[in-house]
Amino acid sequence: MRLPPRPDLHWKDDGTPVDERVGDVYYSVEDGLAESRAVFLAGCGLPEAWQDQAQFTIAELGFGTGLNFLAAWHMWREAAPSEGWLNFVSFEGFPLDADDVERALKPWPELADLAAELCTKCPPRAKCVRRISWSDDRISLTLHIGLIEDTLPQAELRADAWFLDGFSPAKNEAMWDDALWPLITERSAPGARAATFTVAGAVRRGLMEAGFTPEKKPGHGSKRERLEAVFEGNHMATSRKVSAPPKVAIIGAGIAGACLAQSLVERGADVTVFERDAAPAQGTSGNPLALVMPRLDAADTVQARLLIDAYLSAQAFYEGRAGIAFTETVHTPRNSQETERFQRLLADPPLGLTQLEAIRGGGLLHKKSLIIDPAKLLPNLLENTNLRWNTSADIQLDERTVNGEAFDAVILASGWHMGAACPELDLTGRLGQIEWFESNTVAAPSAQASGHYALALNQTRLRGATFADQVGPEPQLSDEASRQNLAALEALNPYWRQDSKGADLKARAGVRATTADRLPLIGGLPDEAALTADRQMLERCAWTIDPGAYTRPGIFVAGGFGSRGFTWAPWAADILTSIIFQDPLPARREALRMVVPNRQILRKLKRSTS
Ligand code: SAM
Repeated sequence: MRLPPRPDLHWKDDGTPVDERVGDVYYSVEDGLAESRAVFLAGCGLPEAWQDQAQFTIAELGFGTGLNFLAAWHMWREAAPSEGWLNFVSFEGFPLDADDVERALKPWPELADLAAELCTKCPPRAKCVRRISWSDDRISLTLHIGLIEDTLPQAELRADAWFLDGFSPAKNEAMWDDALWPLITERSAPGARAATFTVAGAVRRGLMEAGFTPEKKPGHGSKRERLEAVFEGNHMATSRKVSAPPKVAIIGAGIAGACLAQSLVERGADVTVFERDAAPAQGTSGNPLALVMPRLDAADTVQARLLIDAYLSAQAFYEGRAGIAFTETVHTPRNSQETERFQRLLADPPLGLTQLEAIRGGGLLHKKSLIIDPAKLLPNLLENTNLRWNTSADIQLDERTVNGEAFDAVILASGWHMGAACPELDLTGRLGQIEWFESNTVAAPSAQASGHYALALNQTRLRGATFADQVGPEPQLSDEASRQNLAALEALNPYWRQDSKGADLKARAGVRATTADRLPLIGGLPDEAALTADRQMLERCAWTIDPGAYTRPGIFVAGGFGSRGFTWAPWAADILTSIIFQDPLPARREALRMVVPNRQILRKLKRSTS
């Protein structure tokens, strides 16, 4: 099943939640918060362990009600280092609904405001990786939703502390399986601590195999003992002490650059944006309205999952910002194949009912899609950055300078223009044309889609978009594209066509940068010469390399977004911000490999070698 299962939740008379599937409680009957503090926080040497650290990462097996997370957040608020960032990464296979989380956390009034924050941002029911940040508190939560044997091997993180909280080992072996220990070793920072409520022999042996030295300590309340453990680590410690914020240059002030700017500023970077035009979003991001709706694949593949991660990331990122309206998009199938695909999708949907419903006649209703007004959104996202308008960027990759100014990181996010500067990225231009007019009547946000789309927001009515080969250096409007858009509108909704009769129609064309596999480019700029020089070695390792390998140090790419720029941009921004700050990554390993910018070069080398 694609949706994560619900726990078999039961509430004891004293209010403690139990998962009947396992027959165990989520937290102690005798004050779960006090136990959480004693077993996990004190057990991992907190708050002392995070003092002076630029960032500190806690990983938890078993998110449950979020009580341990809130206990850590509460302590962080009271005793955080003056400039650090806390990453809390948690793994959960049977997520609770937000109202159950709320009920479970009720007993602790001191956590009430944090619990309310958590509940409003709880991810929807889906197997996904969700990053939620509270930048005012310098803390983020990354949730990996799915069974532990599927999620932990795919997680990119380096933990300073482990909260091992997966129900009693006697009742729930999966969370203590022998296969997990090497994964924990691989993801532990030197000197990492681990804590758990159980002293079971198998757990102590597992910790020892993982390179930890476990020690029994007096238990909390009526429990006799608990475990604390320290990881020796056999690799060199890198400095993670607080230093000056990284200086980051972003090339391009379209939606990719603007989301990056926002995400990096929230994380504490000093950001400069270079834009050749005089204002943001002069390229394809500059249409009067944009639609964010999901692309849902019928099978549960790596690609299907990353599309959902990106969509949910976009929803959460845009919510509450200027120029954003949530709407239900009516998505009708284009042909019989699509009808069949929708049916297969709905037979085992990847998103729950808060997000997705079936429409009579075979369509999909995307219940939390968004209509965006870029002219309102982008200036808001670019606040608190150094903006260099009308500036073409001269980038020296080896020196990491832009127009002579040195940066810790440079991110190429200039859409189609990037293709000319970096031919190795193999971007193809696709021309997209839209038409719109201002109606006399104000409409509630409304969207219809079927290949093309039609949007209504306030007085604006917009239809589009074509997807054609780009001919010539600049985008050109064409009558043929207008005819296609009109025909599509007729099929989508003849009434809307009627509404547009006699209107003062405006049109706009832009070039979208697309990739051969229609997935974005997110990661380090590939070093083509180094890849080519090592082709034999690469062949020997079956062309699988770490996503960060063979890249130009400190130079990154966010692009190839095709016609889904507003969907990909927040996810790409989150990933690149995490890479630059060495935070845990908000994406699965296999997803990072699918969007790695060197993939076209590798494919070509592979073809020419075989
Ligand atoms: N730390 C939690 C808190 O603060 O409320 C309590 C965690 S509870 C004791 C154990 C959690 O592990 C449950 O939420 C359960 O759904 C999760 N879990 C159990 N088996 C799992 C599995 N195979 N994969 C992922 N999560 C699992």
